[in-house]
Amino acid sequence: MTPFPRADYAALRRYDPERAPVRLDLSDNTNLWGTHPAALALVRAADTDDLARYPELYADALREAVADRFGVPVDCVTTGAGSDDVLDSAYRAAYAPGATLRYAAPTFSMVEPLALMNGMAATAVPWPRALDDPATLLEASPDLVYVCRPNNPTGEQAPLDWIERLLDLRGAGGPLVIVDEAYADFAEETLVPRAPDTPKLLVARTTSKACGLAGLRCGFAVGPADVILEVEKSRGPYKVSRLAAEAAAAALRDDDGWMAETVRACIANRSRLVAAMEARGRRPLPSSANFLFFPAPTGDARRDALTLRAAGIGVRPFTGVSGVGEGLRVTVGPWPLMEDFLETLDRTFPETSSPETSS
Ligand code: PMP
Repeated sequence: MTPFPRADYAALRRYDPERAPVRLDLSDNTNLWGTHPAALALVRAADTDDLARYPELYADALREAVADRFGVPVDCVTTGAGSDDVLDSAYRAAYAPGATLRYAAPTFSMVEPLALMNGMAATAVPWPRALDDPATLLEASPDLVYVCRPNNPTGEQAPLDWIERLLDLRGAGGPLVIVDEAYADFAEETLVPRAPDTPKLLVARTTSKACGLAGLRCGFAVGPADVILEVEKSRGPYKVSRLAAEAAAAALRDDDGWMAETVRACIANRSRLVAAMEARGRRPLPSSANFLFFPAPTGDARRDALTLRAAGIGVRPFTGVSGVGEGLRVTVGPWPLMEDFLETLDRTFPETSSPETSS
């Protein structure tokens, strides 16, 4: 009999990002401009008569909306209850006894737990080393390689020719490569259109960020049809609720240009926030996402995040980040919110410059 609890689950914890309520939550990179109006209108006017029935098996109308937006075939699109769920299905599809995952660290905090949940061992390459040489991600012949582009939590964008080199080096018999593009709208560059014709590539996206639909839990991925078929088998039916699928499709169609407009505003405010931080002697990393990562004011990220939280602002602390050490991640939003953040930062940490970067 298999022991219960599973021995390989001993290292897993329930996810706890330690988010006590705050006046202004800038900790989770969601859309601070709100929800796409077309999605909102659709949810408000929803036909509740059909809630007793199941939604579409594989969210085909949403797959079509994704296919239209990116100009890819429908059978190259899969969906899930958030991109977490899409990643989970992809991991499961790639699993075999003893399977391994390799990724550049630091990255999205669910990457390693999702591997453990699926019985896979995960190994990390420090981000700067991986950027120097993509071959480091292929060492020890992993079954799955995960790359976050732009990267969470640093905001860095691995160059396009770096990804191309990684895919070339991997060759035909290499691992499935997942490129997580949760923040790609803010980088204005995507691999989605080329994913259908790139063997063993899966590009994962979410409607939780630019679309402003984190509460409805919807995500999707694009890849070659043979990869998508395996991920769909692993996903199973009825994963996306009818409301989530319809709202996500409306947001992705972006008929009124709301998403394009808020993405433009976010990119502009990102530059403005970088300038304001630099004027204060703080040094955020270059970001292609809807957040900035900067060295913790006192050099103790957890303590600094708690201090800011006590002053009403939620940011996310990170420790041991390659090239930075201790840092804070802050979501970029409408300018009045950024002013509130800057004023609170000034008041809470009156010193003007942040500590030297460490590695
Ligand atoms: N990938 C990355 C890089 C993320 O930062 C997040 C959420 N923070 C996700 C995936 C998951 O997003 P969701 O499940 O809401 O689609």
